Amino acid sequence: MENYISELPFSDEPNSYGHFMKIDKILFNGQSEYQKMLVINNKKFGNVLILDGFFQVSELDEYLYHEPLVQPAMFSHPNPRNVLIIGGGDGGALEEVLKHKTVEKAVMVELDGDVIEVSKKYLKSICGNAFSDRRTEIIVGDGRKFVEKTKEKFDVIIIDLTDPFGPSKMLYTKEFYRAVSKASTSNGVVALHTESPLLAPKAFNVIIKTLKSVFKHVNVHLGFVNTYATTWSFANASNSTDVKALNPYDMKKICKERGVTGLKYYAPEFYPNAFEMTNQMKQLLEKDAKISTDKDPLDIDADVKAV
Ligand code: SAM
Repeated sequence: MENYISELPFSDEPNSYGHFMKIDKILFNGQSEYQKMLVINNKKFGNVLILDGFFQVSELDEYLYHEPLVQPAMFSHPNPRNVLIIGGGDGGALEEVLKHKTVEKAVMVELDGDVIEVSKKYLKSICGNAFSDRRTEIIVGDGRKFVEKTKEKFDVIIIDLTDPFGPSKMLYTKEFYRAVSKASTSNGVVALHTESPLLAPKAFNVIIKTLKSVFKHVNVHLGFVNTYATTWSFANASNSTDVKALNPYDMKKICKERGVTGLKYYAPEFYPNAFEMTNQMKQLLEKDAKISTDKDPLDIDADVKAV
């Protein structure tokens, strides 16, 4: 077999891996006040939102991200009525929250109004009618400022942010999670993504350690997201509720009582396995890691480049 290895694009450059999508069509390409925004169409993934060069969400597999992000927290809260979403400008998390008939108000605090406008236009299969639902309240602004100022208390808080650099960097710190805990009701549950334990192990470990420095119960679960081409992780944090406690019977009952339909990822018999951690994750979380603070926030760049 001829020696073809040398022609492969191996390099010792950091980020010497990646995955790509062919751009079959450019639907939107612009720079908002905060970030570069691109929406492409790819024959396999459908319409795809890319912010500052990072894949955010695609029509093909958005449920592999939004359901594991939102549903465990919503299912484990006894009566989620007032819900807050920080970030989530594509509307996917909002659409998942509104599936629960118990929800009376869903407040979305998204920094970049342009992301919402672009998502309404090109990601309709993801946001559906969530933005125009009578229960939805959209606030365009910084999620951290909102959480630090609000007098409201929320049953469930979904943190659906870009990776920890740029505009979201200060929303992965102990001080921010403290403010989120203060904005939660006494039995409030928080949900967030916590990066890839495989490709950003340090970032994953720092986020979990930082959550544990604020919340009594922190549970982690995994999911594979094709759009990110890696195993992704999600966490639930609460000072009262251990999200893992839910069983398939409860989930079936809740879906019936709350009129939750259209789930593509969670089936009751599947749900409990979703909370198993791999050995790699367990060993990773046994390692020391700093707590991300305002003075010394998590720097995803250093972590990913260190791979
Ligand atoms: N699924 C994506 C991921 O895992 O990276 C997140 C999707 S959502 C599009 C991320 C949103 O976070 C973006 O719309 C971005 O504008 C928003 N965002 C970033 N920093 C923010 C901040 N400080 N306050 C509120 N929203 C913020």
